Amino acid sequence: PENIPLSLAQQRMWFLNRFDTASAAYNVPVAVRLSGALDEDALRSAIADVVARHEILRTIYPQTEQGPVQVILPPAQAVPELEVRTVTADEVVGAVVELTSTSFDVTVEVPIKVALFKIEGETPAPAPVESEAAAHAAAYTFDFADIAPTGQFQIVDPDAAAPAEYVLALVIHHISGDGSSVAPLTRDLMTAYAARSLGQEPGWSPLAVQYADYSIWQRELLGDENDADSLAAKQVAYWQQALAGLPDQLDLPADRPRPAVQSFAGGKIDIRIDAELHSGLVDLARAEGATLFMVVHTALAVLLARLSGSGDIAIGTPMAGRGEAVLDDLIGMFVNTLVFRTEVDGGEPFNALLARQRETDIQAYANADVPFERLVEVLNPARSTARHPLFQVGLSFQNLTRSTLELPGLSVSGLDVDTELSQFDLHLIVSDLYGDDGAADGITGILTYATDIFDRETVVGFADRFVALLREIVSAPRTVVGEIEILAAAERTEILDRRNDTAHQVDSTATLASMLTATVAAKPTAIALIGPDGETLTYAELGARVNGLARHLISIGVGPEARVALALRRSVDLVVAMYAVSVAGGAYVPVDPDQPAERTGYILETAAPVCVLTNAAAEFSTEVAPLVRMDQLAPAAKLGPITDADRVAPLRPDHTAYVIFTSGSTGRPKGVALPHAAIANQLQWKSAEFELGPDDAVLLKTAATFDLSVWEFWSAAVTGGRLVIAAADGHRDPAYLNELMARERVTTLHVVPSMLDALLTAGDGVMNDALRRVLAIGEALPAAVAQRFRALNRQSRLFNLYGPTEAAVSITSHQVTDADKGSVSIGAPEWNSRVYVLDARLNPVPDGVSGELYLAGTQLARGYFARPDLTADRFVANPFAVGERMYRTGDLVAWSDNGELEYRGRTDFQ
Ligand code: AMP
Ligand code: MG
Repeated sequence: PENIPLSLAQQRMWFLNRFDTASAAYNVPVAVRLSGALDEDALRSAIADVVARHEILRTIYPQTEQGPVQVILPPAQAVPELEVRTVTADEVVGAVVELTSTSFDVTVEVPIKVALFKIEGETPAPAPVESEAAAHAAAYTFDFADIAPTGQFQIVDPDAAAPAEYVLALVIHHISGDGSSVAPLTRDLMTAYAARSLGQEPGWSPLAVQYADYSIWQRELLGDENDADSLAAKQVAYWQQALAGLPDQLDLPADRPRPAVQSFAGGKIDIRIDAELHSGLVDLARAEGATLFMVVHTALAVLLARLSGSGDIAIGTPMAGRGEAVLDDLIGMFVNTLVFRTEVDGGEPFNALLARQRETDIQAYANADVPFERLVEVLNPARSTARHPLFQVGLSFQNLTRSTLELPGLSVSGLDVDTELSQFDLHLIVSDLYGDDGAADGITGILTYATDIFDRETVVGFADRFVALLREIVSAPRTVVGEIEILAAAERTEILDRRNDTAHQVDSTATLASMLTATVAAKPTAIALIGPDGETLTYAELGARVNGLARHLISIGVGPEARVALALRRSVDLVVAMYAVSVAGGAYVPVDPDQPAERTGYILETAAPVCVLTNAAAEFSTEVAPLVRMDQLAPAAKLGPITDADRVAPLRPDHTAYVIFTSGSTGRPKGVALPHAAIANQLQWKSAEFELGPDDAVLLKTAATFDLSVWEFWSAAVTGGRLVIAAADGHRDPAYLNELMARERVTTLHVVPSMLDALLTAGDGVMNDALRRVLAIGEALPAAVAQRFRALNRQSRLFNLYGPTEAAVSITSHQVTDADKGSVSIGAPEWNSRVYVLDARLNPVPDGVSGELYLAGTQLARGYFARPDLTADRFVANPFAVGERMYRTGDLVAWSDNGELEYRGRTDFQ
């Protein structure tokens, strides 16, 4: 026709070239090393022969009123100049790069440039590559749509006395060629050269079709995308449905956060699958009526699912686009990228997933004509310069082009070209090899990776897991994919056992009551409390008040498993009341007199306390339970220590110490019932870990309804230190708290990170100089807040602790250091506590992979008070320790390889 249309892929290249003619990003470079006595004239003629043979090499793409068209120039007008230049051995690579980085204006210039570099002096012999396959794979490390297959071919001329060395470099714009064009291009060039050097014309038969035939045919076949009945429209519609709702990004366990702009810097590792496993994969494919590609692709999707925690995986793969045999000999732009989506359901057997994937893959192949870039436009995923659109992991199967160069006197050797680029986060590029008898002979290749986010060892780990996974599916194809073991045995032991090896001897008979009573006996004259208005109590005075009230409580029936509510504002009375309930053997239930009566009423109804301890200052009343006004009690007669003999029943460590009602993200508050053994373990660990002693002063400023307050209320009482009680509404005033801490020489602060931030702001970054330790908990500790604290408060250590109310305040701990820059770890499990990071099927996940955090050990709550239904939901059987329970936190975490946990947020699980 008059106007030859561009193929769809060419159209995209044309727009890119119009947009930036200076860019070399879409150049396809070829470099050929020649040894021997080279005949320059024969080479010139050979180039002319090739350009005459392939119309695409003499096509320009001017803009017309109908849009861009292909104009094929007559051979005489189109043969590119052969630039011949002498360079030193050191300069040759630079010279090749310079040529192959040239720019084209495809509207006016032919899309090929050629140069011959004569090398002065000796050149190093090329490093032999183990196999043709490896060499071939190595050449494909860049974009599979923009392949840079710098092959190395050697002409060995037996007659040459003094072989000269040359590098012939070619570059074609991607609008006229792709990676698979390199083979016909070099083959034809060598054929023509061989003929011309003998003074003959190349004896090839003309090409059956030209690229223009293909583009016209493709246009006719696909039709107009705006016509709903056209193949183009149908294919676009297929992809819209097939890729609907695809996640924008696959989050694999990375070593670094993803930079805002992808650098494409890449590394690569070798991957090798032995002949036996290869043969097993071939058999598995055959059994399911699938191809080897489908098996490898499905297995890769399963690995990615297991490593990302996502069940929706997209993998990109190149399609040579040369569906017809006559296209094999053509130079031209045929390659396209297909997106394969896999929905990985952990409960599905691998062979069933493979059967499903086979159907999906077939559908994808059947809709492979729409160019990938067009799909990106149509599907319009959230764009980001940080990642490749639609998929971030590539899979390429290289079918080796055989007999590329089989001319007499010609031998081929490969050159390992390390482009140090990776267009995707990961790109698995493999070739499957077969013996002469057709038997599987192994799969070899490389895994390239983005060094922006991955370290080499991490990627080696992915490759090892992948090969192990392939072994598993070959030996047991019916294994449900969520149960395929992806941890090595040693790794499993490390994660489940060694990191949980926290067993520590504590006083297992301890209760809050016994620990307080021991301190009172040991330190009678030490200051125990400093009240908001400066009132001080020694441990002897405190003990007397506590024991007096405890006797009264016992007299009205309080004992083990009986609840007593505390409706008091922060005051000496509140501390005395809490301690008295414990000493009496009961369980305390804090309520906040300033909270809505409805919430408090619900808590009291649920907890059904024997009584509510309150005072005039609390201004509290309720109909639900009897009130005991502390300010109206008659002075107690007996103030001595209380033992089991005085109690309603003996107090044991597994009796409930307190019930704290958490807000509960949905619905009603739920009462977490903690046994004495749990909190006693926590307090004993804490005293040892943070070296708390009688000289320490602890600030009490948290509402008793939050479990963080348990630390504040009890830490000093256990170690004989002082408790400094902030005014009832003092927690709202950071300046007041700073001033109080400085005045009373507070050494120990428990704090939520937002409060730490407020205290730092109020004090211009400086906190009281007596401070020795700050324990942050309750929400993520931002690295900026942590480092701001550390900057001007070197007198104090800072810790990030983690724990839900259901596990006695804290269960993991980490000391903040200079290394905590991007985020602050929540650390490792404390004494007699165990942590599990599990996937949806309760299998442990590898380091770096997000999983849900489950907790086990001494510190677990008994459950939710009077709510066996809720308890059964969250306190589940521990599959790693028969007969034990574990608590499902709903928090997402990941292990770091140093055995500490990284906090990653909440799961959707309520
Ligand atoms: P609570 O039961 O009220 O103590 O809240 C426990 C929840 O607070 C945990 O499940 C976490 O979601 C969150 N949390 C506690 N400590 C931390 C921490 N150090 N970093 C991040 N989140 C935390
Ligand atoms: Mg807490």
